[in-house]
Amino acid sequence: MPRPHVDQDECISCESCVQICPAAFEMNDDGKAQELESATGGEECIQEAMDTCPAECIHWQD
Ligand code: SF4
Repeated sequence: MPRPHVDQDECISCESCVQICPAAFEMNDDGKAQELESATGGEECIQEAMDTCPAECIHWQD
């Protein structure tokens, strides 16, 4: 199952992904979003978070 990955160089720290899908994303100490270790890729809200991200910086990875 593919997992989500946040490109933190592109993240503008809007926190939308964390609000939409707290099961898969969190804000780190740098104020950037990151995928949770436990994010399996199975949560439907991941795609919604990707589609909503204003920086389009969340992608699927293998
Ligand atoms: S929605 Fe995109 S820009 Fe906003 S915090 Fe998440 S990864 Fe960063």
